[in-house]
This record gives sequence, C-alpha cells and structure tokens, in this order.
Amino acid sequence: MLGSSAEPLSTAHDLAMLDLDGVVYVGGEAVPGAPERLAEARGAGMRLAFITNNAARPPGQVAEHLRELGVAAQPGDVVTSAQAAARVLVDRFDPGARIVLLGAVGLEEALREAGLEPVPVDEADEARAVVTGYGPDVLWRDIMRAAVLIRDGLPWVASNADMSIPTGYGIAPGHGVLVDAIRSFSGVDPVVAGKPQRPLLDETVRRVGGRHPLMVGDRLDTDIEGARHAGLDSLLVLTGVTGLAELVAARRDARPTYLSPDLAGLLEAHRAPADEDGARVLGGWRARVEAGRLVVEGDGAAADWWRVVAEAAWAHLDAAGDPVDTDGLTAPLT
Ligand SMILES: [Mg+2]
Repeated sequence: MLGSSAEPLSTAHDLAMLDLDGVVYVGGEAVPGAPERLAEARGAGMRLAFITNNAARPPGQVAEHLRELGVAAQPGDVVTSAQAAARVLVDRFDPGARIVLLGAVGLEEALREAGLEPVPVDEADEARAVVTGYGPDVLWRDIMRAAVLIRDGLPWVASNADMSIPTGYGIAPGHGVLVDAIRSFSGVDPVVAGKPQRPLLDETVRRVGGRHPLMVGDRLDTDIEGARHAGLDSLLVLTGVTGLAELVAARRDARPTYLSPDLAGLLEAHRAPADEDGARVLGGWRARVEAGRLVVEGDGAAADWWRVVAEAAWAHLDAAGDPVDTDGLTAPLT
C-alpha cells in the first residue's frame, strides 16, 4: 500500500538520499526538470545526498559531473559504496589495518580517508581483509590471488553486487559478475556495502545528517528494497529502469512508500488511493482488475494514474500470485 503525506515530501523529510542514474541523470544527460526540482526541494529546507553504488569514481568527480549538469553539489554531498565499504572495514579492524585492494582509485581514496592502508594483492602479509570494487584496470592475475586469499579465510568486503553497469557502449557486466566468480570459486559470501544492503544508507546519514531520510530511486530491487532493509520511507520515480511491467510485478518488499513519474513528487503532498468496491480510486482515476486484466477509467494527473494502477496491480498480485495483464494500457503523458 502506498503511503500518505499531508505535507510535501520536501518538508516532511529533512534528507533526500538520491540515487543518480535514472533519477538525476540518464546516460550523460540530466533527467529533464531534475536540476530545477532538486533546487526547489533544497529551497524548502531538504538536504540532498547523492548516493552511488559505483566505487570507482571519487566523490569529487561525481560532484563535478553533477555541477556540469546544473545540479549544485559539493564532494561532501556525495556518498559512495567505496566509503561505505571503508566504514565496514574500519568498524571491524583498527585504523592502520592493511587491506588488500582490488578496485579503482575511488576505493583506494576511501580506504585512506578512513585511516586504512590499502595494499596490492601480492603484498598481503599481515593484511586483515580483502576489499573488492569495480575497476576497469583490474588484472586477472590479481583476481586469482585475491580469490585464493578469500578461500583461505581472509574476510571479504565487496563495494556492491550490481550485475550490470551503464556505459557509453550500453549495459555491461558490473562488479557483481566478479563477486559471483570469486564466490563460486571460494565458497565465501562477501559483506556487501552498497544498495540494497544497509551500510551505504547508514553511511549517508552519518555523513550528511538528517533525522527523517527519504530514499529516492528508480530501481525496485536496489533503491526501494534497500530503503526497506534500512526501515526508511522511499519515493520511486519512473525516469529510469522501472516501467509499467516492473511496477505491476513488484514483490511486497520492493514496493515504495511513494510513487511519482519524476522528481516533481518531492515537492508534493501525497494521498494514497482509496478502496471503493474493490476498485482503487484517486484524483479522477479508477483502476480495477476484470478477469485478470487491469482496467483504468477516468481522467486526471498522470501521477495519480500510476498510483491507482500500482495498488490495483499489487492487490491482484498478492491474491493471485501472478502479475495482472496490462495489455493495451498506456500511461497518460501529464
Ligand atoms: Mg538508478
């Protein structure tokens, strides 16, 4: 069930933890309207944190990219899975501990910032753990040595387990593919720092502050599920990978608190659809399931169309076990 907020989310919550790809930008371009909506949310008093599972780019680089897109961002507003991985390590081992590093400069900087000593895989003497993250220049011979160290019992922290990563040439294998390879060889599961696990969200609150955070994301299985793991409210936006098919098939633990086509949802109060004789009703729209098919009637704002569709579809999914048929259904544009 979707939640309600009598106040705009930008005043009901004091921190927005914003996923980047599919929320703030897509490919190299800003999502239309995103810089303006974020500036308005900030003007209403909301803190903004930009969080990323990508462990390769240091926060300063991410902030610079955001500024190029017209989003005001300082390095301290950016929190990465590399920083979360370093926190997991420093909480468990003492400052100064030697940590075998398999990854890129973002992970190395994060370890040093946390007071840890990154060492290459062939200098593993007295190392306390192995940390891995996406690194385009990581060599196979180093992967082999790290895998042997892990199999032989050295604790393992992975920045994230994303199976894919967007690149200039399309969707490519992410760090999760390497995690799977090392896991299948060693029989060991890593501690994962990035979404949907908690460390990145906890690290964000620690660094940026905020007592009532709102996770904002485009992916059900990382952003929204991650918020649920951490007991936080979430806003799903539809400017990234989630469309009608993914939304109506969302499992219970991957359903957002709030739903909006885009970041304008940060600046609005939210009402949940009402239940009227088995139909979900909101803002002029009425959605119900007839013989396994989702039927939507009425007129109104696109945001409310998505909300009645989501709730009618989820009720059907919970009762029937299979997603509802959405053939012929198209969202209104505005
Ligand atoms: Mg995303």
